Amino acid sequence: ASRGLGDVYKRQMLAWAFPSMYCDYHTHTPLCLHASGTPQEYVQAAVRAGLREYGISDHAPMPGEPFDDWRMKQADMPAYLDWLTEARECAAPHGLTVRSALECDWFPGIEPWIEHLQGLHAWDYLIGSVHYLGEKEEFDNPHRMDFWHRTDVEDAWEQYWERFRNMAASGMFHIMGHADLIKKFGFRPSGDLRRYYEPSLEAMRETGACLELNTAGWHNKCGEQYPDGQFLKMAAEAGIPLTISSDAHRPEDVGRDFKRAGELARQAGFRHLASFQGGRMKLFPLPGI
Ligand code: ZN
Ligand code: FE
Ligand code: FE
Ligand code: ZN
Repeated sequence: ASRGLGDVYKRQMLAWAFPSMYCDYHTHTPLCLHASGTPQEYVQAAVRAGLREYGISDHAPMPGEPFDDWRMKQADMPAYLDWLTEARECAAPHGLTVRSALECDWFPGIEPWIEHLQGLHAWDYLIGSVHYLGEKEEFDNPHRMDFWHRTDVEDAWEQYWERFRNMAASGMFHIMGHADLIKKFGFRPSGDLRRYYEPSLEAMRETGACLELNTAGWHNKCGEQYPDGQFLKMAAEAGIPLTISSDAHRPEDVGRDFKRAGELARQAGFRHLASFQGGRMKLFPLPGI
């Protein structure tokens, strides 16, 4: 117990010295069937990474089960809430704040389901992500590369950004997940990509949606954070709020590359980051300022 108390003091000292330590708002749990680790291991990793807040945002259930094999089932929701409670208990002695969230999949006509998910718990925030095109085409799954073999890149991008823009315009999510995920395997149309970004940024500006700088892209085929530098710059110019997140599926990835991401955010023109509590956003200075 005395060691725990020491940790609390140490963290308070750190909080005074660095009043704006990072929050990692996009992380997963083993309930989605493709992540590993215990609440305690994630909390330890978050403390080691010097995070102020650890946001848990696992892949939300979808109706029509089994929907796919990489998300929690509706029946897992009590276990998920238990997981969040355990993480909160592990984190408390360290002065680390845990946030509860979901990463929801966007489909045309999904609004009633999202409303259902909203009502299941007092979430701190919801992340909206586009992982599917068409009826049920997975463009970001390395086991579904046939999609890219039969789809024109320009076409896929058109579809993706239309869907992303509609998700932003819905106003149902606090944070837009990995904005340009469609580039995951490095397939991009040639020429100026702003034609894809502009309508989405406009929708985000209108609904007050927040963008995330997702560091997982540095470890995917595309070798670049989500979204790209141009998108980030345009978002900063439009005054869109930003979070930085790891999309960790393993404890050791929590808070990964945040220093690099913070520098990139600053270069793009951001001076603040967003934090969420009970659905309400609060800005804090980008660490290092
Ligand atoms: Zn995942
Ligand atoms: Fe995702
Ligand atoms: Fe994720
Ligand atoms: Zn994700």
